[in-house]
Amino acid sequence: MSNKSAIKAIGFIGLGNMGRPMAENLIKKGYDLTIFDLNKDVLAEMQEQGALVANSPKEACTDVDMVISMLPAGQHVKSVYMGDEGVFSSLNPKTLVIDSSTIAAADAREVAEAAQAKGIRFLDAPVSGGTGGAAAGILTFIVGGSEDAFNDAKPVLEAMGKNIFHAGGHGAGQVAKICNNMLLGVLMSATAEAINLGVKNGLNAKTLSDIMLQSSGRNWTLEVYNPYPNVIDSVPSSNGYGGGFMSKLMLKDMNLAKVTAEDIGVETPMADQARDMYTKHVEDHADLDFSSIMSVFDKSVL
Ligand code: NAD
Repeated sequence: MSNKSAIKAIGFIGLGNMGRPMAENLIKKGYDLTIFDLNKDVLAEMQEQGALVANSPKEACTDVDMVISMLPAGQHVKSVYMGDEGVFSSLNPKTLVIDSSTIAAADAREVAEAAQAKGIRFLDAPVSGGTGGAAAGILTFIVGGSEDAFNDAKPVLEAMGKNIFHAGGHGAGQVAKICNNMLLGVLMSATAEAINLGVKNGLNAKTLSDIMLQSSGRNWTLEVYNPYPNVIDSVPSSNGYGGGFMSKLMLKDMNLAKVTAEDIGVETPMADQARDMYTKHVEDHADLDFSSIMSVFDKSVL
């Protein structure tokens, strides 16, 4: 059954770099939010913007039409929803649950099964677009789950995003998201490698980037997220590699891609190279933006 106007009250769990701007956009669009996070400071700040603060995930999900979570990793998602103390144990089965965290497809399917066992509809809906996209309300949502749940969720997702895709059944959203981020990790490392080759041969990084942008090496990193400092204004590489998408989160996604590939015996040799590079890079630069992989080739950029 599809009833868009029925969704008014939303429980929102996880208000970090991504969850907070997403929740703020929902408040701006007129939804009633009850929120929970382990970080009490963010709860107090969001209360001033009109959110109701709960003392536990279960409390945040009482008497709401929909639940949205934006948590770091699979273990957090499972602990919030599953088990005796989990949200599913007491949730009204009419509540539609959307998890937008990036987690393993197998974890998303496990949570979906636990929801189904209680008659609850669950969607995996990871996002692409970063903190800038979250703040601007133009995220891409990549959704896995049933058609009817997708249709009911869509108006709410459109309050936070611009492109809303239904990738397939449970876990399909996570698989598509991981394929994208695996490719991004490879593209970023390879772009850094190419720029370094040119620069070490005496070329100017901006001139080389402009040439490749109009040639067959063109890709997203050259277009909007160049890893070499001062080629593009206001990207992390021109800002000491601060902000953006942390290298440790890129490594998390590349590890998820590896697990997803191994589960079904698929080889990912290009991604393996990039993943090894990020594994080493994260030892010293975990919190720098993932474009700081440039420093593996040219230490002077840091
Ligand atoms: P974050 O660490 O900034 O935020 C996570 C929030 O969850 C924190 O506020 C933390 O206190 C809270 N939290 C952790 N455990 C909790 C629990 N048990 N109950 C309630 N709250 C809990 O992370 P983020 O950057 O917002 O990323 C969230 C997810 O989105 C991750 O899966 C990440 O991979 C994905 N993602 C991030 C970006 C990005 O650019 N940052 C882009 C796309 C996807």
